[in-house]
Parts: sequence; C-alpha cells; structure tokens
Amino acid sequence: MLTRIKDLATKLAPRLIEIRRHIHSHPELSGEEYQTAAFVAGVLSANGVHVQEGIGKTGVVGEVQGTNSDSRLLAIRTDMDALPIQERTNLEYASRKAGIMHACGHDVHTTVGLGTAMILSQIADELPGNVRFLFQPAEETAVGASWMIQDRVMEEVTSVLSLHVFPSIEAGSVGIRYGALTAAADDLEIIIVGESGHGARPHEAIDAIWIAAQVITTLQQAISRTQNPLRPLVLSIGQINGGRAPNIIADQVKLRGTVRSLHPETRTNLPAWITQIVSNICDCYGARYQVNYRPGTPGVQNDLALSQLLQTAAEEAWGSDRVLVLPEPSLGAEDFSLYLEHAPGAMFRLGVGYKDRAVNHPLHHPQFDVDESAIVTGVVTLAYSAYKYWQ
Ligand SMILES: [Zn+2]
Ligand SMILES: [Zn+2]
Repeated sequence: MLTRIKDLATKLAPRLIEIRRHIHSHPELSGEEYQTAAFVAGVLSANGVHVQEGIGKTGVVGEVQGTNSDSRLLAIRTDMDALPIQERTNLEYASRKAGIMHACGHDVHTTVGLGTAMILSQIADELPGNVRFLFQPAEETAVGASWMIQDRVMEEVTSVLSLHVFPSIEAGSVGIRYGALTAAADDLEIIIVGESGHGARPHEAIDAIWIAAQVITTLQQAISRTQNPLRPLVLSIGQINGGRAPNIIADQVKLRGTVRSLHPETRTNLPAWITQIVSNICDCYGARYQVNYRPGTPGVQNDLALSQLLQTAAEEAWGSDRVLVLPEPSLGAEDFSLYLEHAPGAMFRLGVGYKDRAVNHPLHHPQFDVDESAIVTGVVTLAYSAYKYWQ
C-alpha cells in the first residue's frame, strides 16, 4: 500500500504544486476565506469526495467513505487563512493581493489536505473506516476551530491528525513530537488609573505611566523569582497606551500583552498571580487598577499513540533519518488544541526548508518561502498514516 500511495502522490505532484501556487497567489484573511473555500470544495467534488460548504462560517468539510467495517472515524484538519503581511518574495506566483500573504504555510496545509483526500478517495475500498477532512478558516485569529466545532464537525470523530510547516526542518523530513507541542496563549489587559496633574508637581498627582513601568518590570522580574524555572512562562506586553501631553502627568495607562505557558497548573494560577502584583504596586502609590485576563487557546498535547502512528508511517515512508523526534515544544499557539477537547489527536511538523539556502525565513516573515517538494512528503505521510490508522 505504501508503494501505491507514493506512486499516486508522485503522479499528483504537478497538479498539487499548481493548486498550492493558485492558493498562494490568492490569499484571504481569517474569516474571509470565501474563494479559497469554493476552490477547495471544487477540487474535492471533482475527485469524488462528499463535500459540505459553509461549515464554521467559511470552512469546508469533505468525507471519504471507506468500507464501513470499522466505525472509528478519523479526522484530518488543515487551515486555509493568510496573514495581513505584504509579501516580499519576488516569486512568480507571489500574492496578488496587496498586504495579504500566505506567510504561515496554510496554503501548503490546504494543498496537503486536498492531496491526501484525492489519494484516500482512490484507495477508499481499502479503508475500513471513513476519513473526515476539516478545512478550517481563521486559525491565525484563533477562532476558526471553535466555529468548526460549533457546527459539530467533531461528532463521532475518534481521532484527529494535523500538520504545520516548519522552515527550520529541511524539506523531505518531518518532525514528530510526543506530548506538549505548543503553549497555551492567553490575552492580558491591565488598566492603571492614577490622577492627572502638572508635570512639574508630581507630588500632587498619581503618575500612571511610572506605575505602569513598575508593573512591567516587576512582572518580568517576578517570573524569574516566583515561577518554577522548569515550567516555561513568557509574558510579553506588546501594547502600551497612556498620557495626553509631555507636561501632563498621565491619569490612565492601558497595557496589553500575551501570556504563554506550557503547564496547566501554571496557567490556572496566572490570573491571581498577575492581579496580586498589580494590586500591590498600585496600592503602594494610591492608584486604581483593573486586570482582565482572557484565556485563549490551550496548548496542543499530542496523543502518544497517534504520534507513534505518525512516526511509524513516516519512518516506513522516508527512513528513520528523515524523521526527527523533537525534544522541545514551541511557545507558539495553535487552535488545533480545541479539537483535542473532543478526541485525541496529533500534529506533526512538515519540513519545508531549502537544503541549500543559508537562510530559511521564519513563519510570518514577508519573505517566507517553502521548498514545494515537501507537499508530496506531507501527502504521503498523512495518507499512509490514515491507511494504517485502522490496521
Ligand atoms: Zn501563523
Ligand atoms: Zn500557521
């Protein structure tokens, strides 16, 4: 079966590259994937895959029916949205839309999902169960997975697989991770309210900017002194707003940031920990405050058995020197974790780095580029893992 899947993928390769380039040059922002969704639906139906459109707003669901001798339903999830970035690659198939670019490789994910569906529909009589393809919108804004789940795409699903491109792994190789793959990503907003006054008479005012500076500094220092150093925690304040004029003491400052953590216990304690620090500093100087901690996506915890399935399939397909078991998770976020609240799953990293390039630009970079030979690697790895799922 592996040889058959590889042959099918090799035959499909030129078409898949054409598909990827089409999607790459027509990127759409999160929640606006109308043309991409229509294109995906078109390719699926042309290949005999049962399609439902308008799932999860702009998502698409395809189902490949096996022989129904096994009731376990496997889902394969890919994402379709692009980013608000001006592409600077000079590729002939670069984005045709100003300020929008597939800089996170979701064009490759969509193509790999389509390629896998094409192959599995050709070997459907050898699949004991069904495979449901989830083409999700709005991953970058971390809302697409929840839209899909609200539309009940996870009903009856017993396991879910996914992938993300990775420029620091060479094309032709894949990365497998057991356990934690990505971090929980939460939003933080802190509002500090002081009292306005003349810049020359600080003692008659309560300086919200100076207090905000202490809050930021103390939070960073407190991570190093009060959080377990073996449990990673990153708190980044990315936005700060306050003040009216150089000679007026600011009466209000708003800080906004992102908080990344790997361990559930660390995460649970964060709102209280942050509030206590802010409250102590503000109390000291008579300021008032508000801490708004909004939980975002949880971390992705890869299921051990499904990571093993991916690893075995990839090793049989490409040899063990092409399969890296990743020693570390990433503190990036990925809303694939929401599907894992409904069924166990695993995501692998698809190497897309050019072997002979000194620099492979990172994800979300305006010059991000992929070695397209990775598409076949992704398709064979997923299609063969799916085939082996019921074996
Ligand atoms: Zn991204
Ligand atoms: Zn991404």
